[in-house]
Amino acid sequence: MKLEAIQAIESRVLLETYERNPLLFERGEGVYIIDENGNRYLDLLSGIGVNALGYAHPAIEEAILRQSRKLIHTSNLYFHNGQAELALRLTERTGLDRVFFSNTGTEAWEAAMKLARAHAGVLRGEGKTIGTKFLALDQSFHGRTYGSISTTYKAKYRDPFGPVVPGVDFVRFNDVADLRAKFSSDVCAILVESIQGEGGIRPLTEEFFAAARELTQSTGALLIVDEIQAGMGRTGKWCAYQHYGILPDIATLAKPLAGGIPLGAVLCTEEVARAIHPGMHGTTFGGGPLACAVAIAVIDTMERDGLLQNATEVGDYFQEQLQALAHKHESIIDVRGKGLMLAAELNSPDLAKSVVRKMLKRHILINCTSDTVLRFLPPYILQKTHVDAAISALDEILNELVNITIVGVAETGGKSRG
Ligand SMILES: *Cc1c(COP(=O)(O)O)cnc(C)c1O
Repeated sequence: MKLEAIQAIESRVLLETYERNPLLFERGEGVYIIDENGNRYLDLLSGIGVNALGYAHPAIEEAILRQSRKLIHTSNLYFHNGQAELALRLTERTGLDRVFFSNTGTEAWEAAMKLARAHAGVLRGEGKTIGTKFLALDQSFHGRTYGSISTTYKAKYRDPFGPVVPGVDFVRFNDVADLRAKFSSDVCAILVESIQGEGGIRPLTEEFFAAARELTQSTGALLIVDEIQAGMGRTGKWCAYQHYGILPDIATLAKPLAGGIPLGAVLCTEEVARAIHPGMHGTTFGGGPLACAVAIAVIDTMERDGLLQNATEVGDYFQEQLQALAHKHESIIDVRGKGLMLAAELNSPDLAKSVVRKMLKRHILINCTSDTVLRFLPPYILQKTHVDAAISALDEILNELVNITIVGVAETGGKSRG
């Protein structure tokens, strides 16, 4: 089928949840994704941070083929090889002790919230004073199921579906005083992303992260870190909290975990794991043999090929080049991120949208999050030559657009917000 035919059918039979770009992709190779007409696009978004090894990676192909010939699904009623081998790899690399596998990010997050409430229940049973409240952050994003939207900041994700899960309070981002004011023995967990993704690639400050760790430790509450976007090597470490020297009580992983096959995980300490007993939580599909086999292949390939190192080196280079671009273009008001999780914030939402559209016309995929933020989440196999291509395209596009938007740029006040 051609794109127009697909669009016509989808507009009749699918729920209208996405305004898709008019592109029909057929296959991919390395960092390129290829459309129905054979056009190659440099993919700096990698399926929203999922395709960590790029497209058609032989290690993933081999793992899928090998495992699909043996066993795709067993349910969690029986043993298979994958969960033990994958959980060993994850616990060794993250500093946490135990793992539960889900299919998606939002399910891992639901499990994290359930663990926190159950853990607080155990502490209450032991005579401690601890409540059931969650503290989440402004601009947070944790997914689309009920627990997740309840702890997600933007009202448009929550309000049409209310009532949401009660007992969630939002703290101003990186505001230690606000965190201290809102924290009490009513709180069972503080919920953060080490580096906010949807919220605009915003890293926590060391001070805020340390305060969240110290406050939770003072009452027995938990520090829960959502690493679904930042984790599994994207920032040059297995988890972004490792840059801060902080160990949370619970962390969630998903997007790049199985290189494109759906898989999520919630990891926790031995202390937290005490709260869970057989029958309390479960999943039909989570941690299936196919997804686990592919995740193991992804981790082993990342180590064999030095991809954490590559994410650091190419990511640093990318960030330097973006910074150089910001010196040339007044319309770039901030550059931030870590490794291959990067952002350039522009001074107007319209400009940001136009840049994404014009990059697409030049066959480079990026997106815009949080209205004004150009987001880059490329595969970990990215090379400096790809960065150079993206930077020179951005440079030319900003030169073109500035002639049209110069009035808007002047009105929104240049670099003051950087
Ligand atoms: C994408 C994302 C989620 C939700 O993951 P899904 O697999 O879409 O359910 C949760 N938290 C963060 C930080 C994310 O980036």
